[in-house]
Amino acid sequence: MPERASCRKICMASDTFHSTSTIKHPKHSKGCTMQEFTGSCHCGAIRFTFRAAAIDKGLRCNCSICRRKGALMSAFTVAAEDLAIDAANDALATYHFGTGKAHHHFCKHCGIYPFHQTMRKPGHYRINLGCVEGVDSCALPFEVYDGASL
Ligand SMILES: [Zn+2]
Repeated sequence: MPERASCRKICMASDTFHSTSTIKHPKHSKGCTMQEFTGSCHCGAIRFTFRAAAIDKGLRCNCSICRRKGALMSAFTVAAEDLAIDAANDALATYHFGTGKAHHHFCKHCGIYPFHQTMRKPGHYRINLGCVEGVDSCALPFEVYDGASL
Protein backbone atom coordinates (compact mmCIF):
# COMPACT_ATOMS: atom_id res chain seq x y z
CA MET A 1 0.00 0.00 0.00
CA PRO A 2 1.38 3.39 -0.89
CA GLU A 3 0.44 4.93 2.47
CA ARG A 4 2.36 2.37 4.41
CA ALA A 5 5.44 2.77 2.27
CA SER A 6 5.46 6.51 2.72
CA CYS A 7 5.11 6.20 6.48
CA ARG A 8 8.06 3.86 6.67
CA LYS A 9 10.13 6.17 4.54
CA ILE A 10 9.44 9.12 6.79
CA CYS A 11 10.07 7.18 9.97
CA MET A 12 13.34 5.76 8.76
CA ALA A 13 14.64 9.02 7.39
CA SER A 14 16.03 10.07 10.72
CA ASP A 15 19.49 10.90 9.51
CA THR A 16 18.42 13.69 7.22
CA PHE A 17 19.32 17.16 8.32
CA HIS A 18 16.51 19.69 8.46
CA SER A 19 16.88 23.16 9.83
CA THR A 20 13.21 23.80 10.48
CA SER A 21 11.99 22.79 13.89
CA THR A 22 8.27 23.42 13.54
CA ILE A 23 6.74 20.95 11.15
CA LYS A 24 3.57 18.96 10.78
CA HIS A 25 3.80 15.24 11.15
CA PRO A 26 2.33 13.16 8.41
CA LYS A 27 -0.22 10.65 9.66
CA HIS A 28 1.02 7.30 10.81
CA SER A 29 -0.24 4.26 9.03
CA LYS A 30 -0.46 0.62 9.99
CA GLY A 31 2.76 -1.31 10.26
CA CYS A 32 4.84 1.58 11.53
CA THR A 33 6.58 0.81 14.82
CA MET A 34 7.15 4.42 15.78
CA GLN A 35 4.90 5.95 18.42
CA GLU A 36 3.97 9.53 18.94
CA PHE A 37 4.74 11.15 22.29
CA THR A 38 3.76 14.53 23.65
CA GLY A 39 5.54 16.67 26.17
CA SER A 40 5.77 20.15 27.58
CA CYS A 41 7.78 22.43 29.81
CA HIS A 42 6.40 23.05 33.30
CA CYS A 43 4.27 26.10 32.54
CA GLY A 44 3.05 24.78 29.20
CA ALA A 45 4.41 27.62 27.07
CA ILE A 46 6.41 25.03 25.14
CA ARG A 47 4.65 21.91 23.92
CA PHE A 48 6.05 19.34 21.60
CA THR A 49 5.34 16.02 19.97
CA PHE A 50 7.84 13.58 18.61
CA ARG A 51 7.92 10.12 17.22
CA ALA A 52 10.16 7.39 18.47
CA ALA A 53 10.22 3.70 19.25
CA ALA A 54 9.12 2.68 22.76
CA ILE A 55 10.91 4.51 25.59
CA ASP A 56 12.41 1.88 27.87
CA LYS A 57 15.60 3.56 29.08
CA GLY A 58 17.24 6.93 29.38
CA LEU A 59 20.62 8.55 29.22
CA ARG A 60 22.49 10.71 31.66
CA CYS A 61 25.53 12.70 30.69
CA ASN A 62 28.39 13.85 32.88
CA CYS A 63 29.32 16.97 30.91
CA SER A 64 29.44 20.33 32.66
CA ILE A 65 25.88 21.34 31.78
CA CYS A 66 24.10 17.98 31.96
CA ARG A 67 25.40 17.16 35.41
CA ARG A 68 24.04 20.51 36.61
CA LYS A 69 20.66 19.96 34.99
CA GLY A 70 20.37 16.41 36.22
CA ALA A 71 17.78 15.56 33.61
CA LEU A 72 17.18 12.09 32.26
CA MET A 73 17.47 12.42 28.50
CA SER A 74 16.26 10.14 25.75
CA ALA A 75 18.81 7.48 24.83
CA PHE A 76 17.86 8.04 21.19
CA THR A 77 18.04 11.22 19.17
CA VAL A 78 15.06 12.60 17.31
CA ALA A 79 15.47 14.10 13.86
CA ALA A 80 14.08 17.56 13.33
CA GLU A 81 11.41 16.24 11.01
CA ASP A 82 10.19 13.92 13.74
CA LEU A 83 9.83 16.69 16.32
CA ALA A 84 7.11 19.31 16.22
CA ILE A 85 7.57 22.23 18.58
CA ASP A 86 4.70 24.49 19.55
CA ALA A 87 6.11 27.36 21.57
CA ALA A 88 4.28 30.45 22.75
CA ASN A 89 5.72 33.70 21.51
CA ASP A 90 9.28 34.14 22.70
CA ALA A 91 9.07 31.28 25.19
CA LEU A 92 11.87 29.22 23.68
CA ALA A 93 15.34 30.40 24.56
CA THR A 94 18.65 28.81 23.71
CA TYR A 95 21.83 28.57 25.69
CA HIS A 96 25.16 28.06 23.96
CA PHE A 97 28.54 27.38 25.45
CA GLY A 98 31.85 25.86 24.47
CA THR A 99 31.94 25.26 20.74
CA GLY A 100 28.39 26.60 20.41
CA LYS A 101 27.38 23.54 18.43
CA ALA A 102 24.95 22.22 21.01
CA HIS A 103 21.70 24.14 21.40
CA HIS A 104 20.31 23.85 24.91
CA HIS A 105 16.73 25.01 24.67
CA PHE A 106 14.79 26.15 27.69
CA CYS A 107 11.58 27.95 28.57
CA LYS A 108 12.03 31.61 29.41
CA HIS A 109 9.07 31.48 31.78
CA CYS A 110 9.56 28.37 33.88
CA GLY A 111 13.21 27.59 33.15
CA ILE A 112 12.59 23.98 32.22
CA TYR A 113 14.74 22.45 29.55
CA PRO A 114 12.59 20.17 27.37
CA PHE A 115 15.17 19.18 24.74
CA HIS A 116 18.51 20.07 23.26
CA GLN A 117 20.16 19.74 19.89
CA THR A 118 23.14 17.52 20.23
CA MET A 119 26.67 18.60 19.59
CA ARG A 120 27.66 15.45 17.76
CA LYS A 121 24.60 15.30 15.54
CA PRO A 122 23.51 18.83 14.66
CA GLY A 123 19.82 19.04 13.82
CA HIS A 124 19.00 16.10 16.07
CA TYR A 125 17.45 16.37 19.48
CA ARG A 126 17.56 14.57 22.76
CA ILE A 127 14.38 14.86 24.77
CA ASN A 128 14.11 15.49 28.50
CA LEU A 129 12.10 12.41 29.47
CA GLY A 130 10.78 14.14 32.57
CA CYS A 131 8.80 16.40 30.22
CA VAL A 132 7.14 13.55 28.32
CA GLU A 133 3.58 12.55 29.15
CA GLY A 134 3.10 8.97 30.27
CA VAL A 135 6.80 8.38 30.95
CA ASP A 136 7.99 7.79 34.52
CA SER A 137 11.51 9.12 34.19
CA CYS A 138 12.35 8.08 37.77
CA ALA A 139 11.59 4.44 37.03
CA LEU A 140 13.65 4.03 33.88
CA PRO A 141 17.11 2.46 33.78
CA PHE A 142 19.76 4.63 32.24
CA GLU A 143 23.26 4.64 30.83
CA VAL A 144 25.82 7.33 31.52
CA TYR A 145 27.33 9.06 28.54
CA ASP A 146 30.84 10.38 29.04
CA GLY A 147 30.22 13.85 27.62
CA ALA A 148 32.85 15.29 29.95
CA SER A 149 35.56 13.65 27.86
CA LEU A 150 34.51 15.23 24.57
ZN1 LIG B 1 7.63 26.95 30.55
